[in-house]
Amino acid sequence: MQWNIPSLEELEHYIWRCTACGTCRVAYDFGPPATCGEICPSGSEFGFEGYMASKGKIAFARGILDGTLDLADPEFLEAIYKCTICAGCQSQCQLDHKPYIPEIFEAMRRKAVESGVGPLPLQKNLLQSMKSYNNPYQGPRRLRTDWTRPFKKAKKPIKNLNKEPAEIMFFVGCTGAFNKQAQGIPQATASIFQKLGLDFGILGESEVCCGSTAMRVGDAEEFKRVAEHNLNLFRQMADEKGVKTIITSCAGCYRAIKKDYCLSADYDKLMDGIEVIHTADYLHRLWQEGKLPLQNAVEGTFTYHDPCHTGRHLNKFIIDEDGSELWPGAYLELSEEDCLYDQPRELLAAIPGVEVVEMKRVRANSYCCGGGGGVMTGFGDWATKNAGKRISEGVEAGASDMVSICPFCHYNLNAGAKSIGSAMKLYDLTELIDRALPEK
Ligand code: SF4
Ligand code: SF4
Repeated sequence: MQWNIPSLEELEHYIWRCTACGTCRVAYDFGPPATCGEICPSGSEFGFEGYMASKGKIAFARGILDGTLDLADPEFLEAIYKCTICAGCQSQCQLDHKPYIPEIFEAMRRKAVESGVGPLPLQKNLLQSMKSYNNPYQGPRRLRTDWTRPFKKAKKPIKNLNKEPAEIMFFVGCTGAFNKQAQGIPQATASIFQKLGLDFGILGESEVCCGSTAMRVGDAEEFKRVAEHNLNLFRQMADEKGVKTIITSCAGCYRAIKKDYCLSADYDKLMDGIEVIHTADYLHRLWQEGKLPLQNAVEGTFTYHDPCHTGRHLNKFIIDEDGSELWPGAYLELSEEDCLYDQPRELLAAIPGVEVVEMKRVRANSYCCGGGGGVMTGFGDWATKNAGKRISEGVEAGASDMVSICPFCHYNLNAGAKSIGSAMKLYDLTELIDRALPEK
């Protein structure tokens, strides 16, 4: 399969467009409400300019290209992995290389992996697990369906797409399947689908990682291996089992299938007639059509945390390709039409009894949970510390609990709450919707 994953050299043209102005270091928005605050977990923690937002990271990329910085230097290698790939800096920059900023960071990592020095040792374990188990958690295949036990017990079995046809494939994702603290998310999702009478199935033990983590830490070969497997399987499931829609409750899987998989030259052919949608978006659509009866009250004051992967990572950038408006390649504007900012907030607010309060940094300026981009694996304590900061922001906003739509944020933010002794609990939106829906 042909892939269009750019090398650092292919991105050089953009790398030299950064003016080192430093705008990317601070989240700003004229509002209302006006926002001004930290945006880069890396710069906030490590201080040194090189860690700070895209200004610092792009200086690293220039150093690699002109040979003044060496990826084999362990201190430098660590520095390029001290970044959650949250794209918070990208949201601030307004110059022509803006659309390519996270790509430049990942291209540095790809170069490190290709040259045999990257990723970091703990992240190498994760990649080894991908190769051995097809998931990053060293989870045996038989445990992938552990979360379905309550459904079997209640005699409400979930279809296995390998055996039965269904219109909807629920792509569970590795975190929801293997992380005990996140298993409530696929359980709530499946419960909602059953209550709504949807025709859905799962891949069960044969589901394979989406490849997001491999891509974020720079192992393009491992990403391509699982992505090619999944793309071919999606086509097969559409042709043989009638799958028309792939739904996932995982922000990382969603970003990978929706955006990273598009880097394959065969994407349009293999995904023809298949829609990929996040659960929050799918349920929002049903709610707008009057098909999601949110009846039961869920009392509480909640704040919504925007995962990077369902927010600014899904920006679409409008480029002046032919130079007819400014100059060839000029960045003109962005479209947030794919970003899931409004849908989860509207669903949350529609649940009876729920009061919603907003944190200071939201939507494109959301502060990362701090665990993405391989940081939770590579720098666990720092990931938890970042999450603690986000929890404190929720507390400051007056929320009793926090809601999100990503099992990875869910796990990390819960750990962050514990680390600062906060009673704040993380809920996935599906968990609250499941409570609000009456039994069938
Ligand atoms: S990445 Fe953009 S905002 Fe940041 S220093 Fe460079 S030009 Fe300025
Ligand atoms: S992607 Fe996030 S962590 Fe990385 S440099 Fe940008 S703001 Fe900092």
